[in-house]
Amino acid sequence: LSTRLNGVFDKLRRRGALSEADVTEALREVRVALLEADVALPVARDLIAKVRERAVGVEVIRSVSPAQQVIKIVNDALVEALGGGEGAEAPGLDLNAPSPVPILMVGLQGSGKTTTSGKIALRLRTRDKKKVLLASLDVARPAAQLQLQTLATQAGVMSLPIVPGQSPLEIAARAMDMARRELFDVVILDTAGRLSIDDALMSEVAAVKAATKPHQTLLVVDAMTGQDAVNTARNFQDRVGVNGIVMTRVDGDARGGAALSMRATTGAPIRLLGAGEKLDALEDFHPDRIASRILGMGDIVSLVERAAETIDRDEAEKLAAKMKKGTFDLEDFASQLKQVGKMGNLSGILGMLPGMGAMKAQIGNAKIDDKMVGRQAAIISSMTAKEKRNPDIIKASRKKRIASGAGVTVQDVNRLLKQFDDMSAMMKRMNKLGQKGLMRGGLG
Ligand code: GDP
Ligand code: MG
Repeated sequence: LSTRLNGVFDKLRRRGALSEADVTEALREVRVALLEADVALPVARDLIAKVRERAVGVEVIRSVSPAQQVIKIVNDALVEALGGGEGAEAPGLDLNAPSPVPILMVGLQGSGKTTTSGKIALRLRTRDKKKVLLASLDVARPAAQLQLQTLATQAGVMSLPIVPGQSPLEIAARAMDMARRELFDVVILDTAGRLSIDDALMSEVAAVKAATKPHQTLLVVDAMTGQDAVNTARNFQDRVGVNGIVMTRVDGDARGGAALSMRATTGAPIRLLGAGEKLDALEDFHPDRIASRILGMGDIVSLVERAAETIDRDEAEKLAAKMKKGTFDLEDFASQLKQVGKMGNLSGILGMLPGMGAMKAQIGNAKIDDKMVGRQAAIISSMTAKEKRNPDIIKASRKKRIASGAGVTVQDVNRLLKQFDDMSAMMKRMNKLGQKGLMRGGLG
């Protein structure tokens, strides 16, 4: 994509300042992107207002289009709103308190509280060498306490012995008692959730909080939470009070707008991410990565800057024309991958490429290297010309043939096709920007 942008935007060099119209046009698209990423409407509105104020009148950088520049400003504002930016530290868990440190897990049912409790326990035991006690206060679902007990065994930590018939408050008191007596470092109190906010839940959780005075009260939120995020966050913040957020299911398709909604509404930092069902699928939160995922536009500006030196100009023109006509196909994708390979430092660049951020998140910390680009190139070269032009016809049997031709698995082929889809969707978005006159004289 960088290739095309480079060619396109080279023609757009102009001086001056970002005009009201430039900014308004670009922000219209940004607003759609934010809402598509499930950022709650009022939160999206606030962010856009902030960006508008900041952007109008900003000096236009040579060789960057106004649209690009606005996107960069939006990106920076997003990172900031998510708690990042210069001087910011990845918050992680704050355990800076006398032992045993109580951690209270709250959130709606199914958000991932119990799983996250197990994940945190595993991390604290293995990485931080802490002695951790897990206790389930969930008396609403019969199997809940057993679920946590199983997770505790998997994580190699102790769980509070189950005593039937106790109330959440009684269980919490017993947990704190045992932790003090047996010198635990951390006690994780896992609470029950409801499908939606209700009074009984809130009073129960608030009472437990008052009794145990947790050092960290973590609101666990599913990344798929859409427009409800603000309501949920406000209720938990007002009625219980939270000082940290854990966003789960970032391994899914969600673009994670809930993170922004939650952070904006509660003011509490996002401390951890859940990226899978397994106990080791716990990640630190990186504002810049989530920002780029929410915006879905990668770090266009810095990519263009870095790409400019190595990109072949004719190639860029050609691809720009194809992009305009909407005929970008897998052959072009392959040549783009080659360009990416030339730039070196692949894993950094991949993260910045629109559409590839999500892919990177999906494969987690697996190393992205030249081998992978080689594999992708091999997959594409195992396709027939017809398949490259029209990837839609690639169904199961063709996938099998391509996979064996390239010496990869069918999953690898699927992944590549998905990536190509993402890229095409991104391009349509850029195209739309162009047609609306944002890239005046370039694409429009
Ligand atoms: P709770 O009701 O809040 O305690 O939620 P649970 O911890 O029981 O999780 C509900 C379901 O979500 C379970 O099937 C978990 O395996 C799953 N889950 C939790 N966290 C994640 C995550 O980060 N990614 C994925 N894919 N699934 C998760
Ligand atoms: Mg639970």
